[in-house]
Amino acid sequence: MASYFDEHNCEPLATGEQPNHLLDLARLLLDSGIGAEFQLEFERIFGHVDGRKQPPAAKHVIENLLSTNSFDHDEKCSICLKEFQLNSTKELPCHHKYCTNCIIQWLKLVNSCPMCRIELPTDDQDYEQYKKQKERLKQRQVELDDLHNSMFS
Ligand SMILES: [Zn+2]
Ligand SMILES: [Zn+2]
Repeated sequence: MASYFDEHNCEPLATGEQPNHLLDLARLLLDSGIGAEFQLEFERIFGHVDGRKQPPAAKHVIENLLSTNSFDHDEKCSICLKEFQLNSTKELPCHHKYCTNCIIQWLKLVNSCPMCRIELPTDDQDYEQYKKQKERLKQRQVELDDLHNSMFS
């Protein structure tokens, strides 16, 4: 009799090997409409398996950051802790402000605001896909909660 692994055409994982098919499984389950309760597991798998790191912000986002000169004279950049200078301060969509140089360096590494972690668009298609799935799950959870509330209150 063929073993499980023969039938499923995959190898048992060697220690330390990246079990990437878990990602496919996660996506499959999500696409097939497994409920939001799967989200935690999904995140655990994603966080674990490919150690998904946030990618840099999209180039066009970095290039089109909003400049601002409306800050208090003693307001400081929370990255370098220096006071803001005229004509070299940027404001993110969340209204957090940083020196131009600081925030550009930062967004070239990570796509989120250092203060509030709100995420900016990226050029990373995989990551955008992943984010959309997360959003969909969140949305579904909200809908389930609403439904639950309307039924039991
Ligand atoms: Zn700074
Ligand atoms: Zn922010």
